[in-house]
Amino acid sequence: MIPDFKGHHFVKDSKLGGPILGHHCDQCGLKASLRPDGWMDFHREDKGILVAVSGETMLADSPVPSCK
Ligand SMILES: [Zn+2]
Repeated sequence: MIPDFKGHHFVKDSKLGGPILGHHCDQCGLKASLRPDGWMDFHREDKGILVAVSGETMLADSPVPSCK
């Protein structure tokens, strides 16, 4: 799962199955895909992927924008 960071609170999307676990922030709607290799893709539906972050990166130091 994706821990809280920068004000985001990610919850798992219940409808999606398969190897990629979809998440979304329940406060700002930012989406994140947790991949089997540990990378996380953060994206918005209208802009595509914003940034991909290795699971070994501290999320607080990542380029992911803060929650509003
Ligand atoms: Zn957020």
